[in-house]
Amino acid sequence: MVRPTHAFIDLDAVAANFRAVRALLGGRAAAPEIIAVVKANGYGHGAVQVARALEDAGAPMLACADIEEGVELRRGGVQVPVLVFGALSVSDLDGVFSHRLTPTVSSPFAARALSEAATRRQTRIGCHLKIDTGMNRLGFRHDNLGETLRDVLTDPGLAVDAVYTHFATAEDTEHPLFAEQQRRFEAAVRSVSSLGGSPRTTHAANSAALLRDRATWHDAVRPGLLLYGAPPGALGHELGLRPAMSLRSRIVAVKGMRVGETAGYGGRRPVDRPTTIAVVPAGYADGLDVRLAGRGEVLIRGRRVPIVGSVCMDSITIDVTGLDVSPGDEVILLGYDDGQRIDAGDVAEAIGTVPHEVLCRIGSRIERSYRQEAAVPGDVPDATTARGGTG
Ligand SMILES: *Cc1c(COP(=O)(O)O)cnc(C)c1O
Repeated sequence: MVRPTHAFIDLDAVAANFRAVRALLGGRAAAPEIIAVVKANGYGHGAVQVARALEDAGAPMLACADIEEGVELRRGGVQVPVLVFGALSVSDLDGVFSHRLTPTVSSPFAARALSEAATRRQTRIGCHLKIDTGMNRLGFRHDNLGETLRDVLTDPGLAVDAVYTHFATAEDTEHPLFAEQQRRFEAAVRSVSSLGGSPRTTHAANSAALLRDRATWHDAVRPGLLLYGAPPGALGHELGLRPAMSLRSRIVAVKGMRVGETAGYGGRRPVDRPTTIAVVPAGYADGLDVRLAGRGEVLIRGRRVPIVGSVCMDSITIDVTGLDVSPGDEVILLGYDDGQRIDAGDVAEAIGTVPHEVLCRIGSRIERSYRQEAAVPGDVPDATTARGGTG
């Protein structure tokens, strides 16, 4: 049995997007490496499937949000180094060692806990050091590294392989914080050296930053969004990225509404003409935002059709007045149809959020099918099941 609402994930598109980013970076003598970000279940696309496609495409390192996500990647067969962005709590440190993850050290406390755990195991753990250059989230504050970093950089249990930061305003070309964060990061990297650190790499750029300014590239970049084919805002449209996910459903009912009637909860927006609506079985439990009511659109046979009425838990209603539709007809919530396209960026714009949120909210109730045509050299025999490939 297959529910009518279904996500199709094109792993060839993920690989092609990876290559497009690599081509963009490739102009320099020593091109930066790509740390491919697969947190939040691979932005809703399926972490293991996407991770393995990226690994096959040549990603030298992947990144995820926490240790549990890293463990899932290892259990799914991912071999390349996996960077964990998130804060380390004391209790879950085991996974770092048992699953060969690369933790981020973002506080003196985390450094001590990690070092003690490494020393107990008579080993030295490779880690990346995070500097807070203005985001005020995780990381060592950039302005007192002399006090906080000295012990970390000389700790025999820790091998600080990289230093990184994260931008708060990469999408916003007007905001002065972006340039300020770059200056602070460069100063922080110099401090790390003067305090005895010798990291091999530095990295800073997410998708928006890497598109916006080559000076953010350093030795590696950390795109997430671009790999899924969703350009951040106005940037990146020239890269020819392919959206990796399409979200499709089918009409389950068609009915008429009289003038003055309303659809769904709340009884809002009475119709001012006889209206034909169709019910599509995908709602907020599937990750559709309630703000799409009256703002969002879907595609039916290449026509843009507005979402009317409220977004319910399990369904939406769309205005199909004048269209010849019947139950069973396909509805595209994200994707292409007949020259028309609705992508995560369009949805994000309609409801005032970022494409990341649109993608990673696609619910767990929605089955994902994977398509990967490109022959993968050196593939493992159980690839089909491991990838959940249903063609
Ligand atoms: C999520 C994340 C990224 C990737 O961001 P995109 O905007 O998807 O490219 C990079 N670095 C860190 C630290 C992140 O948390």
